[in-house]
Amino acid sequence: MAVLSIREVTKTYPGSPPIEALRGVDLEVDDGGLVAVVGPSGSGKSTLLHLMGTLDQPSTGSVHVAGFDTGQLSDRQLSGLRANSVGFVFQQFHLLAGATTLENVAEGALYTGLTEKERQQGAAAAIERVGLEQRVHHRAGLLSGGEQQRVAIARALMGDPVLLLADEPTGNLDTRTGAAVIDLLMDLNAQGVAVVVITHEHEVADRFPRTISIRDGLVESDSNK
Ligand code: ADP
Repeated sequence: MAVLSIREVTKTYPGSPPIEALRGVDLEVDDGGLVAVVGPSGSGKSTLLHLMGTLDQPSTGSVHVAGFDTGQLSDRQLSGLRANSVGFVFQQFHLLAGATTLENVAEGALYTGLTEKERQQGAAAAIERVGLEQRVHHRAGLLSGGEQQRVAIARALMGDPVLLLADEPTGNLDTRTGAAVIDLLMDLNAQGVAVVVITHEHEVADRFPRTISIRDGLVESDSNK
């Protein structure tokens, strides 16, 4: 089964002239897949990741996530799909600096319909999955960069996603810390979560079994083809 299926997708942003960020992309990611997306700045990588995560809709073409044709879902159904099937990790960790690890991670389940107690329990379990149980009650702003990215990954794991999307997750980290974050994403992948990572770092992309290269809004090469 494909966790992600993208067919003839284009994305044009309005403007004069309009910007054709994606010009006809086809790709599939299998359940439990592990993919790096590379390409120069402005080539359409982030746009593609947003479409994969249903944060935005394509101009034409279709995006299936976890078997759902996202173009057929209401906003409410899309929110549900995101909350229960997709996790996001960004270059900026987007944590509340004054809140604790636990509070930040529990926030990741605000829209999943869990009770407060279930959220706390789920957050504790997610924090354990990323190896931060020693930092549960620390304020996020006082953690190291690598630890902050782990908190962000734990937050993304709330809702037990089948797909984890990461946009330059090592972009704000030194090489060694970044490598450890990639190790963690690979551990999670080994547990069955499909992982798609955007990166411009060759040493990161080289670790992935499949690399999709994007250029000028098109798939330039797909090492898995
Ligand atoms: P990358 O992630 O590879 O740097 P992006 O997907 O961010 O590429 O951008 C692809 C193109 O689309 C760029 O020309 C960018 O300026 C444009 N773009 C991205 N997001 C928007 C937006 N929200 N509105 C208008 N143009 C955008």
